[in-house]
Amino acid sequence: MKFDTKVVRAGITPDPTTGSIVPPIYETATYVLPEVGRDKGFDYTRSSNPTRQVLEANLAAIEGGAHGICFSSGMSAVDTCLKLLSAGDHVVCSDDVYGGVSRHFNKVLARYGLTFTYVDSSSADLVRQAVRPETKMLWVETPTNPLLKVTDLDAMSAIAKEHDLYFGVDSTFATPVFLRPLEFGADIVMHSTTKYLAGHNQIIGGTLITNRDDLRDEFKFIQKTIGAVPSPFDCWLTLAGIKTLHLRMERHAANAQKVAEYLEAHAKVASVSYPGLPSHPQHAVAKAQMSGFSGMISFELKGGIPAGTTLMNTVELCALAESLGAVETMITHPATMTHAEVPAEDRHARGLSDGLVRLSVGIEDADDIIADLDQALAVA
Ligand code: PLP
Repeated sequence: MKFDTKVVRAGITPDPTTGSIVPPIYETATYVLPEVGRDKGFDYTRSSNPTRQVLEANLAAIEGGAHGICFSSGMSAVDTCLKLLSAGDHVVCSDDVYGGVSRHFNKVLARYGLTFTYVDSSSADLVRQAVRPETKMLWVETPTNPLLKVTDLDAMSAIAKEHDLYFGVDSTFATPVFLRPLEFGADIVMHSTTKYLAGHNQIIGGTLITNRDDLRDEFKFIQKTIGAVPSPFDCWLTLAGIKTLHLRMERHAANAQKVAEYLEAHAKVASVSYPGLPSHPQHAVAKAQMSGFSGMISFELKGGIPAGTTLMNTVELCALAESLGAVETMITHPATMTHAEVPAEDRHARGLSDGLVRLSVGIEDADDIIADLDQALAVA
């Protein structure tokens, strides 16, 4: 099957009982055994569930992997990956990872004896220098949230192989439509399915995809043991969302390119970060390893926090919301919203300036999105 066909069909067969073309929602906790010691493939929904199994097969196919495992959130998928490690192990991580990921690493997992070094993974030299004898994992996000930094996955894969590291990639922003990290040698691909995969702001979910049977067994074991599983209904909504993933992503990317070009030419905008712009520092890497640049943009307002606040309060079509990757355009001001509790000097050290705005460009008409930004920027 070609990619677009896999998106719509892979892993999905008519229900054997009724022929239902849509996989049923198996909203059940347990399954009646025909006799002691024999089941029909399922015993308890924490371990597995038929609706979840369809979603897992579909996600594995579109990511080009052998195994998919779904979780109740992107964060529980990340957590499961890190549970491959033990006290004393060290992780090298992209410096601009989603704030919830670094919070989990620094405030929770550090208590259990894991250590982390954050480096700008767009530089392979910095990553190589950060590897220590006790390093066990390389965790890369590309493009990053919120600065849209892009990492060369071939270079990361070489470092991971050289030092025998687990190589995990958070590919939430790129989606399998534009980037399939397993093809570049990643061991694990992670997605917050909350975002583009489900795509409609309805559910919270996560997934891990791998080609390695040993990792699949570990992930299934951790999933079954801890129980951070998505509900059958959320799996069903995610499956419904995925059916249009390829079409939605095309529009997200086309709209984002137009909006990024508009912003780059605006007098009140100091800079724009979008991997599809030639001005993006890793535009060449993005062009080589991605087949499109997705729908996320960050830009820097000249007027700092007051301009950011005014812009947020003046937009009408763009929804002032913390999430991303859904059909509606959403706008966030990290300094007063997602990163408000981070001290200003730490924020600035990470490159998150007071005037930074993150835009998740939706699939509305690009002219309407630009008109909304235009009227808000006029007063910002
Ligand atoms: N990774 C990235 C890049 C994200 O943007 C997010 C959420 O914003 C997550 C992981 C966490 O996913 P979730 O919110 O589904 O737990």
